[in-house]
Amino acid sequence: MRYLGIEPQRPRLAVFDFTCCEGCELQLANKEDTLGPFLAAIEVVNFREISSEKREDYEIALIEGAVSRADETDRLRRIRKQAKIVVAFGSCACYGGVNRMKNAYSLDAANREVYGDKPKETDLVRPVKEIIKVDLEIPGCPVNKEEVERIVQHLVMGVPYNFPVYPVCVECKMRGTVCRYEYNEICLGVVTRAGCNAPCPSAGFWCFGCRGYVDDPNVQAAREVMEHYGKTMDDLKSRLLLFGSGQEKTS
Ligand code: SF4
Ligand code: SF4
Ligand code: SF4
Repeated sequence: MRYLGIEPQRPRLAVFDFTCCEGCELQLANKEDTLGPFLAAIEVVNFREISSEKREDYEIALIEGAVSRADETDRLRRIRKQAKIVVAFGSCACYGGVNRMKNAYSLDAANREVYGDKPKETDLVRPVKEIIKVDLEIPGCPVNKEEVERIVQHLVMGVPYNFPVYPVCVECKMRGTVCRYEYNEICLGVVTRAGCNAPCPSAGFWCFGCRGYVDDPNVQAAREVMEHYGKTMDDLKSRLLLFGSGQEKTS
């Protein structure tokens, strides 16, 4: 698309999926109202879910999914060699995601449970940053479309993007949602990174912590909330395992 006779620079973007459900890619493909402007800002050269084009001259690589097979590590290293910017896209890529629950069991037991007598090659689940250097992580299961758009705008303009440094509770309070603890539930919004605009509590669910820990979580405040509502920190920690974002910060 030309503007005033000039072809604007559009970064070439590729999207690759690894061990995951591809729900984050779907969020991107399913951008509805804003898909047109989004595609005007970038050039998609490799994105299996929406296009048969498979060019290797990409500058930005969005990596969706965790790593759980040897061939995936080789593929990741090839992508790293080509891309100027590698983005871990979604909580599977950032933390291992729900796949990482497998690491709590023996690989054989997990394989048998899922595939019965037809086992598949499988290894411990690892986030992308354990294999290659990652320039940016976009958390969420799935990622938040509006946030992805803002981040892509920043990448296109070459301006750093700053993630919120406060927990989901802040956005939840700004929406005026009644706290899930008032319903005797355990909500992870107290220690989870904001940026999603707290859709789960506002829809009547507790926050599942899909965006991982906020930087420097206020553990003491979380402890006080737990005590106030007759819960324990172990209750909170047990739920944090779901998306593989680690548990060391609340110990
Ligand atoms: S982060 Fe969630 S939605 Fe995205 S690929 Fe992983 S499991 Fe699917
Ligand atoms: S604990 Fe959950 S429901 Fe309560 S304010 Fe925080 S995010 Fe909202
Ligand atoms: S409220 Fe919690 S579970 Fe829901 S999208 Fe936000 S971080 Fe994820």
